[in-house]
Amino acid sequence: MQDQPIVQSFIAGQWFGKHADQALLSPINGNTIYQTHAETIDFGQSIDFARTKGRQSLLSMDFQSRASCLRDLGKYLLEHKEALYQMSTQTGATRTDSWIDIEGGAGTLFAYASMGRRELPSGNLIHEGDAIPLGKEGHFYGSHVLVPRHGVVVHINAFNFPIWGMLEKFAANFIAGLPCIVKPATSTSFLTEACVRLMHQSGCLPEGSLQLVIGRTGDLLDRLDGQDMVTFTGSAATAAKLRTTPNLITNAVPFNAEADSLNCAILAPDVSVDSPEFDLFVKEVAREMTAKAGQKCTAIRRVLVPENHIEAVADRLSARLAKVTVGDPTVDGVRMGALATHVQQYDVLTQLDQLLKTSFLVSGGRDACRPVGENAEKGAFCQPTVLLSNDPDADGGAHDIEAFGPISTLMPYKNVDHAVALAARGKGSLVSTLVTKDPEVAEHMVPNLAVWHGRVHILNEQASKESTGHGSPLPMLKHGGPGRAGGGEELGGIRGVTHYLQRAAIQGSPTMLGAVVNEYVRGGETIETEVHPFRRYFENLQVGESLLTHRRTVTEADIVNFGCLSGDHFYMHFDDIAARDTQFEQRIAHGYFVLSAAAGLFVSPGEGPVLANYGLDNLRFITPVPIGDTIRARLTCKRKIDQGKVSPKGEPQGVVVWDVQVTNQDDELVASYDILTLVKKLSS
Ligand code: NDP
Repeated sequence: MQDQPIVQSFIAGQWFGKHADQALLSPINGNTIYQTHAETIDFGQSIDFARTKGRQSLLSMDFQSRASCLRDLGKYLLEHKEALYQMSTQTGATRTDSWIDIEGGAGTLFAYASMGRRELPSGNLIHEGDAIPLGKEGHFYGSHVLVPRHGVVVHINAFNFPIWGMLEKFAANFIAGLPCIVKPATSTSFLTEACVRLMHQSGCLPEGSLQLVIGRTGDLLDRLDGQDMVTFTGSAATAAKLRTTPNLITNAVPFNAEADSLNCAILAPDVSVDSPEFDLFVKEVAREMTAKAGQKCTAIRRVLVPENHIEAVADRLSARLAKVTVGDPTVDGVRMGALATHVQQYDVLTQLDQLLKTSFLVSGGRDACRPVGENAEKGAFCQPTVLLSNDPDADGGAHDIEAFGPISTLMPYKNVDHAVALAARGKGSLVSTLVTKDPEVAEHMVPNLAVWHGRVHILNEQASKESTGHGSPLPMLKHGGPGRAGGGEELGGIRGVTHYLQRAAIQGSPTMLGAVVNEYVRGGETIETEVHPFRRYFENLQVGESLLTHRRTVTEADIVNFGCLSGDHFYMHFDDIAARDTQFEQRIAHGYFVLSAAAGLFVSPGEGPVLANYGLDNLRFITPVPIGDTIRARLTCKRKIDQGKVSPKGEPQGVVVWDVQVTNQDDELVASYDILTLVKKLSS
């Protein structure tokens, strides 16, 4: 035992801990594989390091550069993934299980890197615009901004995904610009430690942005203040205990929980036994029961089936699970590995005994397990087990008891509303799958399921061709559910980043607001020079630089020419009698003509630094333009975003968003929109 490696903490930039404390046992054969360290961490020093060094190094970067840094970290992890795969078998995981943890974790870094680069601004402030005029004359505006909190995030994670569990949270808080202290579950902390070592070795991790705690959290939570945050994944009991830590309540420290939940899959009544959807249903349930040996927060615990199909589902599911070889994940042919620890095995089998008080054993069970592998009888294995609930309307049973392993309970239901009511008996869960062929069934059931389930996965034959599965939280979709599932929310695209930012409302003149959000706000001061804004390189262009164009009178010939060119002969432009009956009482120009004419007014046609126009946002046609009206445009540089990109020809470029206002002879706004362009930079 003395020789087993010590899992170390990473505190204040140093690897910490030399003396052995708790032995961590192999779930495959019971041998000691690692030891935690005995030394106590000085959490005062750790928090101080995060708030000073961590914050400083993160805020010396911006959203864009942190996103690039995440991409580099992800690349480094993938280059070194085989070492992680090898170690991951020691948690009882098969290679497929480890793929979710390791490549799923790196994939989340990549996803956040690209969402960050695409959707976030340069700098460290997000403007949740547009600004809203609060007065009648445009002198006073209001808006919202999001800024990085001045604190540290403490992530307390579960044992089942030692890498993904850390990275899915780290990705969002890192882009937000907050340092974090990660406390993984002790039993699988050696794998988290290996991942943090790689991140540190990569040279891409800013100083103080990530610290690792092995073992207990001591007085860490008692030292947090109102700028800090806590996230938790694990049991509902621990979540309840930690969220009521007096210091967290006193200082209103946000606490986001993702706890165990009793997710379900529902076979809709329209699916017949011989349809492809029936097989899909059985396959999905079997997959969710056996992936990670059922130790997934999203695993299907309750299987809701129309009464007349219960026997068929029980038979097909049991037959499928009987083919799953359980054992040492390094042995060829093994499809399901071990539970993460012997304690976990004891808990799962105890919960199975509880469930059997209100259910029948259909297949599997405590005595059915014959794991393959040397000394496998000493391992923490568990056979996939299917139960059948006697009375799904009764209290307790599978609606309350979570066996965090490969165990699911079949529940017969009478009609779709009964199924929805049974699904809600889980008191809030992360995900439900509805297998149906009928869009009307989905339309009826999904809004009711959405009340209690953080994600609803609708599966039919078409979706199955690309479905990412019931059990996969995706970076771009929200993860987290109400009630028993913890009531928290993670991921969900950039929304996941905004959880770590502080939102404030701001009010003031348009010029003041513009200065704060580094964006042109209409009514604010503009900069007009002799140089056309399209002739400026990215670096030289200033936010607020503006051009008021010459005028153009719209003629009938314009309308006829545009109609012939585009093929748009809509009556509003071409039928004088019909147009007189409309709210405009006359023929008007095509809105798209106004757009095109405005471009003709404001572009600087010669070769220059504007490389491409890649779209427009927020387009509104506000006032109609009849024949004889005279229009002009105002083009103003609204926002600049430096994504560090280069064109296919190798030219460095940035994104410039232009505010365009088209007005008529009475200065009324005719059209309003933002144009998105790529503008050449002088240097990379
Ligand atoms: P716990 O809730 O016991 O532990 C989760 C995390 O909290 C671990 O990092 C644990 O650390 C830490 N922790 C526990 N007590 C404290 C404390 N007093 N102060 C600070 N941190 C603490 O869950 P387990 O990992 O033991 O799993 C138990 C059950 O939780 C499972 O059987 C399952 O039902 C559920 N679960 C749910 C998951 C989900 O994603 N929703 C994932 C995993 C489990 P340490 O390991 O050092 O005790």
